[in-house]
Amino acid sequence: MAGLKLDLRHGRVEMSHGSGGRAMAQLIDELFAKRLANDYLAQGDDGALLPAVPGRLVVSTDSHVVSPLFFPGGDIGSLAVHGTVNDVAMMGARPLYLAAAFILEEGFPLADLERIVESMAAAARRAGVQIVAGDTKVVEKGKGDGVFITTTGFGVARDGVTLSGRNARPGDAILLSGSIGEHGMAILAQREGFAFDAPLVSDSAALNGLVEVMLDSGAELRALRDPTRGGLATTLNELARQSAVGMLLDETAIPIQPAVAAACEFLGLDPCYMANEGKLVALCAAPDAKRLLAAMRGHPLGQNAAIIGQVIEDSHTFVQMRTRLGGRRILDWLNGEPLPRIC
Ligand code: MG
Repeated sequence: MAGLKLDLRHGRVEMSHGSGGRAMAQLIDELFAKRLANDYLAQGDDGALLPAVPGRLVVSTDSHVVSPLFFPGGDIGSLAVHGTVNDVAMMGARPLYLAAAFILEEGFPLADLERIVESMAAAARRAGVQIVAGDTKVVEKGKGDGVFITTTGFGVARDGVTLSGRNARPGDAILLSGSIGEHGMAILAQREGFAFDAPLVSDSAALNGLVEVMLDSGAELRALRDPTRGGLATTLNELARQSAVGMLLDETAIPIQPAVAAACEFLGLDPCYMANEGKLVALCAAPDAKRLLAAMRGHPLGQNAAIIGQVIEDSHTFVQMRTRLGGRRILDWLNGEPLPRIC
């Protein structure tokens, strides 16, 4: 088949596409390079030679194995961009470049691969990052699950800004950028074929623009983190442990869409443990919380932002929640894995 044009409509990934030979070059040229085109990728060498970055470099890497590959609100391609862009942004950095490695399963439809790469390209454009290096490998049919994508992100930390989960202090405010549980519930519903009255759509989005306005607000930020796998509860437990503090949340302050709340209730799931892919948690000095909140609400991805609680002194590093009924419950670490292959 080498020499002929790639059959993007009916073709499938073949072992030869990972061989390093002509078929692989054709796949890369006709499917990947065309859609991800930029000057760095066009260099065509073993690595991309990038200009010097002005400041401290932030690097983050993440593998994406989400199942199903396509879901309401996104697909593995956009998710692989958003996931890594967000991890770089959570460091108070401006994401600039991505590298992407694909593991393809023999027999995977090229039309689906094309959709995924197009989705990646669109997500990267929207986020203002360039995919400057890539790799593809092919494994035999039955040895993969369509496609896995690993992305590595590079960004530059804002001058004078050092964010870390170790920075939380008793009294700090805890802010959340929007409603919880949408990604996890969208994946679950799609995978299990559940139909609910209102559609469940992933919140998958790049948060670097939101982070920019938060940094611009001048609020004294301690830490940012995106509550992905394990959800809000897991992220807050991580932060509490890192800083050796406790947290006290107000259940009524945590935004949640009615459709997600209803689906969680129906299935007996706690939305605080459901994954998000377009939300962030911010810890900031209490006197600056209102200013930070206003800045967040001024951004499309922070419209429903809320102050959901505060950091407290607690040698047990418990994350507690004041419930709707006025009681308190502990939001413990997640036990086991209720929902694998979420990202
Ligand atoms: Mg993260």
